[in-house]
Amino acid sequence: MHHGGYTIPASLRHLIDAERARTGRSAEAIIRDALSQYFETSLHTVFQVSTSGALVAGVSEREVSVGTLLDHGDFGLGTFTGLDGEMILIEGHAYHADVNGDVTRVAPDAGTPFAIVTRFSPEQETTLGPVRSFSELEAACDPLRGSGNIFYALRLDGRFARVKARSIGPQAPGTRLAEAAKSQHEFTFTDVEGTLVGIWSPEFSGPFSVAGYHFHFISADRRHGGHVLDVDAEGLRLQIEPLSNFHLALPETEAYLRATISGNTAAELATAERGR
Ligand SMILES: [Zn+2]
Repeated sequence: MHHGGYTIPASLRHLIDAERARTGRSAEAIIRDALSQYFETSLHTVFQVSTSGALVAGVSEREVSVGTLLDHGDFGLGTFTGLDGEMILIEGHAYHADVNGDVTRVAPDAGTPFAIVTRFSPEQETTLGPVRSFSELEAACDPLRGSGNIFYALRLDGRFARVKARSIGPQAPGTRLAEAAKSQHEFTFTDVEGTLVGIWSPEFSGPFSVAGYHFHFISADRRHGGHVLDVDAEGLRLQIEPLSNFHLALPETEAYLRATISGNTAAELATAERGR
């Protein structure tokens, strides 16, 4: 077997074939996992900084640097210190969408209070569409998820007739997310080439993560982006990866340690994140 110019001996090839037959996974996926074990880098792992509950409760101090995030993933989303804008991590680069949806590349020393990232290693690829709304997008992605009980990373590429997104401007320390969301800006990008960077989180993760689909958009020219509220696209290329390991990095800041994070932040989060 030739793989990017490498030759794999027959003895190993038999093992790969047996594993393919046993699991139904592709040779590529098996080789990727084997390499990641050899190099001790984790695949199919969510690395999340802080909890959605803490963010809802207004804990938005810098917890880790973007550089640290990039050590744990090359793909994901989040926000910045003081809820200043939306974060998009794609292909190992971090971007900041400001309150107007204008995007700039972020330096590794920028800080984040909340983010969820992974080393994107998709197992499945397909095309879907047309999708005329966020709920149609959800409905189109649903059958591609094998389970409701693990996390998924989703990347959708294509030309969008319309992307409605929002972003939040910098907030005073301690501002609750629902309060901050009242001052968010909403904007619509039309006829734009770009990518949806998404994480799907199971229902049970609601108190500490963002349950359901959470997408951030970035344009192909890396100039526009934000937290996605609605979409309209003719056809999109979807890549999806199941994520069965979850690493939660809890903050050690005074603000987090002293915060009152009530049990029922999920409803407040849904209002702030969905805007519907
Ligand atoms: Zn978001």
